[in-house]
Amino acid sequence: MPGFELFGNTERKELQDVLDNGVLMRYGFDGMRNGHWKAKELEQALEEKLQVNHAQLVSSGTAAVSVALASAGIGAGDEVIMPTFTFVASFEAIMMLGAIPILVDVDDTLTLDPKAVTEAITTKTKAIMPVHMCGSMANLNTLQTICHEHDLLLIEDSSQATGATYNGKPLGSIGDLGCLSLDFVKIITAGEGGAVLTNNEKFYRHADHYSDHGHDHIGSDRGAETHPFLGYNFRISELHAAVGLAQLRRLDEFVAIQKKNYAIIREALSQIPEVTFRRVPEGGEESYSFLSFFLPDLETSRKVIQAFKENGIDACWNYYDNNWHYIRKWDHLKELKTLYPLSAEVKEGLQYLETKTFKQSDHYIGRNISCLIKLSWTEEEVKERANKMVKAIISVL
Ligand SMILES: *Cc1c(COP(=O)(O)O)cnc(C)c1O
Repeated sequence: MPGFELFGNTERKELQDVLDNGVLMRYGFDGMRNGHWKAKELEQALEEKLQVNHAQLVSSGTAAVSVALASAGIGAGDEVIMPTFTFVASFEAIMMLGAIPILVDVDDTLTLDPKAVTEAITTKTKAIMPVHMCGSMANLNTLQTICHEHDLLLIEDSSQATGATYNGKPLGSIGDLGCLSLDFVKIITAGEGGAVLTNNEKFYRHADHYSDHGHDHIGSDRGAETHPFLGYNFRISELHAAVGLAQLRRLDEFVAIQKKNYAIIREALSQIPEVTFRRVPEGGEESYSFLSFFLPDLETSRKVIQAFKENGIDACWNYYDNNWHYIRKWDHLKELKTLYPLSAEVKEGLQYLETKTFKQSDHYIGRNISCLIKLSWTEEEVKERANKMVKAIISVL
């Protein structure tokens, strides 16, 4: 997945443009810029590539989720439904606004189970936030229907699946709002950065102002701008945007490389009857950033991970034992360990985590292994890796 594997002259050239005129900030300094507006250019390129009316760049993927929620008016005491399998950023971004993350089970797509989502809806629910983990997606048709029935917003986190499509449309462009990350390990990187995607003009205007202190961005005198509402600073810099711009132009190339490498490994693993693959919802096409498969049980998965390590097969994970991506090890969330006092609403809203169990998620995450698909492998290396993986799995079964 990581675009940093293939940095080159295109990234260097875009960065050099910014250094040459010295304007590292995305707003203002019109005279000095020499025509270079990297953040604006990247926003336009994202709009075209990801087929949305509006893209707002921000400082990170985590900020993108917070800004997306804020721009839709979600805040204190509101509930947002999210999956048990994601990155810690999901609940952080929700809690930053005083809203309450409601965690629900994933299914064999490794994303939100629509049935678990329906069961979790209350009068406080404002949004459903599927996280398209490891290059594939949630069942967006079903989730959209649930949103329409209950008058909820659909907010996609496609940080790990930029380049994947659902019914021919890019992920992130389908919900009311989409969020993506351009951090260092994502398929296209800006070093740090993120984007909010939407077709909703009002949400876009909110995101544009909110991510820059609430400045209204009217006219060409920044100091004279007024503030229709309170904001914050989640700006991206021109340096980051420049790298992101070069990387976005290479998205199709990256997806094509991943698809080729993924296909070789998948075909090899398909020979093993005990191996089954993650379900991709009908109409979905993965970004091929990861190959995710299931083994018969948790014990086997753990042994296979061990065998992979012993045989030099890196970048494969069983997330059941992972501190970053799965509810089981999020004790800091369950025990509400914060540096500052939380509101009574959030404390009360999160009490369910003291006792709630997630058996269905345990079932799927326990049996799953997800392997990163790298861009820099040669065909020979991929074939050798595939053979080693097959041998290691068979040695455990
Ligand atoms: C990386 C990631 C984020 C956060 O992005 P940052 O840019 O690192 O803040 C959010 N959600 C998911 C699923 C991610 O993988």
